[in-house]
Order: sequence, then C-alpha cells, then structure tokens
Amino acid sequence: MSRIRARFWDPTGAKYAIPTYPWRMSPPHLLTLRQLTAAGLRPGGQGVQAQILWASRRHGAPGVRVAYLYDVRFALPKRTATPRQLEALAKANAARRTCPVCRRDAGYVLPRHLGTCLDCADAGEVAA
Ligand SMILES: [Zn+2]
Repeated sequence: MSRIRARFWDPTGAKYAIPTYPWRMSPPHLLTLRQLTAAGLRPGGQGVQAQILWASRRHGAPGVRVAYLYDVRFALPKRTATPRQLEALAKANAARRTCPVCRRDAGYVLPRHLGTCLDCADAGEVAA
C-alpha cells in the first residue's frame, strides 16, 4: 500500500472518528448517497457510517475531499407516493391549470403574473 493510501486507511475510526477509507478501498456494503439512490434506496434514518478521503488534484482546489458512506444493510426502499397522495397532487395541479375567469382547464399551468389563461389575458387586454 502506498504512503498516500495509508494516510486515509482507518477502518476502525481511531484517527478520523469514523471508519475512513482511501479512494476505491471502501468495503462493498458501504455506498454513497448517490449510489444508494441509483439502487432505489435511501439511508433510512441511519447517520453517516464511514467516509472516503482523497487528495483532490483539481487545479485551484487542492486539499482533502470527502465522500460520506451509508451502510446498504440499514438502507430502506425509496418512498413512493400513496394513491391518496397522488390524488391530492393531481387535484392541486388541476387547480393550477384551471382559469378562474373562463373556468376551463387551460392544459398548462397558468402564468402567475396573469392569473388567468392566455386567451382571457388577451381578451382582457383588448377590452382595456
Ligand atoms: Zn380563461
């Protein structure tokens, strides 16, 4: 193991307070939030379990970078909306599309600065 890697090798957390691994050396059950999301999971109440540390080689931003890891064994499936939640969302969206002047579903979300559908806004301008 190279010296750079050994610097961030701390599986027990003796040095960094939480288990710490160098880039690409974390155990397979520890995933980043992005990796959990890609697998259809969420952390599910668990805190950060471990971290990956690596020296950034980005120009102008030297220093140590960190990625937090979560244990896939404590992860839960991503929450999906219940039928009742979906119904409420559909209602709210329908309300945002319904013009208060002509009472029609415009088929798009009404522009907030007009407060009406585009047809009614045009008619109002002609009348004014
Ligand atoms: Zn209208």
